Amino acid sequence: MIKVIWILASTLLLAACAQTLPVRSPITMDSNIAMSDNLRLYSIAHYALRNDILVDEKAIAGSGEITFRARSPMTILELDFDGLYTIDGVSDAEGELVYTRDEAKIVVTLRNEVAAGATDTVTIAYHGQPREAERAPWDGGFVWDKSASGKPWIATALQGEGCDLWWPCKDHPDGEPASMDLYFTVPSDLTAASNGVLVDVSDEGDGRSTFHWRTSVPTNTYGIALNIGPYVLIEDTYTATNGTEIPVKFWALEENEEKARDFFDREFALNIAFFERMVGPYPWGQEKLALVETPHYGMEHQTIVAYGANFARMTYGFDYILHHELAHEWFGNVMTHKSSSDLWLHEGFATFMQPEFTRQRLGDAAYQAISYRTFLSIESCNPIAPRDYMSLGELYFSDEGGNGPGGDIYGKGSWVLRSLGYVIGEDSLWRSIRRLVYDTTEPAMLKAPIETRFRSTDDFMNIASDESGTDLAWFFEVYARRGPLPVMTVTELDGNVVLEWQVVDELDFPMPLPVRINGEMSRVEFSANRATLHNVSKADILIDPDMAILRKTDAVPTCEERRAEPEESPR
Ligand SMILES: [Zn+2]
Repeated sequence: MIKVIWILASTLLLAACAQTLPVRSPITMDSNIAMSDNLRLYSIAHYALRNDILVDEKAIAGSGEITFRARSPMTILELDFDGLYTIDGVSDAEGELVYTRDEAKIVVTLRNEVAAGATDTVTIAYHGQPREAERAPWDGGFVWDKSASGKPWIATALQGEGCDLWWPCKDHPDGEPASMDLYFTVPSDLTAASNGVLVDVSDEGDGRSTFHWRTSVPTNTYGIALNIGPYVLIEDTYTATNGTEIPVKFWALEENEEKARDFFDREFALNIAFFERMVGPYPWGQEKLALVETPHYGMEHQTIVAYGANFARMTYGFDYILHHELAHEWFGNVMTHKSSSDLWLHEGFATFMQPEFTRQRLGDAAYQAISYRTFLSIESCNPIAPRDYMSLGELYFSDEGGNGPGGDIYGKGSWVLRSLGYVIGEDSLWRSIRRLVYDTTEPAMLKAPIETRFRSTDDFMNIASDESGTDLAWFFEVYARRGPLPVMTVTELDGNVVLEWQVVDELDFPMPLPVRINGEMSRVEFSANRATLHNVSKADILIDPDMAILRKTDAVPTCEERRAEPEESPR
């Protein structure tokens, strides 16, 4: 997801939801809630989702076919499903099945016990009006919009709330389907674009067509998307580092074709080349790399990235939304957080890629400018990787006095990586990033299927420690597990200069610091959080002139000042 105007948008959203939408169970509204015992019993082998899209009614009708693999013997199948839909029937291959249901769950009694390791398939027919997203992509649901030409323009966005807003599913990061078939029936003058490859388009003979999409790789369920509109398809192929000929596609609104072609030619290949060079092979090259124009800002839907930024040429020489959402194919889709508390592994890493891309396109001035802009946004009120469970909503709503990191998962996350690069060296940092994503430091020739990996903050700490040959527990404790930034104090004492790290809870923080002493750059090492520079005065030294290290400076307010500011400002 993208951060821009999120805080403002989320405030409006809460107000809007409170007035217009019925109360939903927290189970429906949160994909990261701890799994029930019944959800733990199985994994998802396959979903087949069939939806007639009833544009005028803002409704869908169809079925979800769930093929699950039992981890332990099973007699019931529990699924998450938004209670606002009407169930039209539940069945297996032999006929109707008995089920119970409440506002958030459907529990199906299986015909026979399913043994551990075995699979079974249940189909649930349903219809209804899906919850509408008021402010997609910052809240989840369907978006029913119209293009400038007046034709239907429809999208889904599910991050946070999850797949149970759309079909009966296991709504948890553990619920990734190994593969999926998607069938969407839409008016024949529209295109339905979705995940994976287009198997076929069949004419229903009544002015409607059914688009059949299939993805054969594991997909975050929030990365599944339906996009419908009067699209033109712009396409090419890209030869990846591993030799794969990647189909590259862009479904753009027909009225934007000219701008879209220019954007496609200007941006796509450069972005793909950057990520392949810096990280590794595009993970889904055997299916496609694609963007689709959406009525919302953007989202990292796997192989069908949502783009709604209207082809803006950005100040830093690249399109922020394209770059950010594409980054999530690596940081989010093939490498996925184990828990929402590790979400900075998606957002912080994606944000870290932007200054580097800027540097390679425009040079150091732009690199430092975009980095400093990000620095100024850092709040440092709460940890970016809280050790305890936190829902996606709690993570984002730090501005309302909550315990979450808010936008720090983006900006502070990226600066944590910048600082780590100084501590362990740039080569070591990039090796660690590649290993986090691919489990190898040399992924360039890896071929599909590239394995999906679930990672935590501790996983990254262990990888970086291993790659650098140094225990980095102190680094992650201060920067990821605590909120307040370290402060550097500089004191003159007996003809020397004493540097000292002031750190929350007086934690040990042997963070080296670049210092220019009489014009010469030095890497100053610390012991017991102190270092002494002998026979110099303050006037002889310049601390961290390139801002390599993330620390509190007087340029930004403290967390307390930042939070107090709105009340003190005149209205
Ligand atoms: Zn994002």
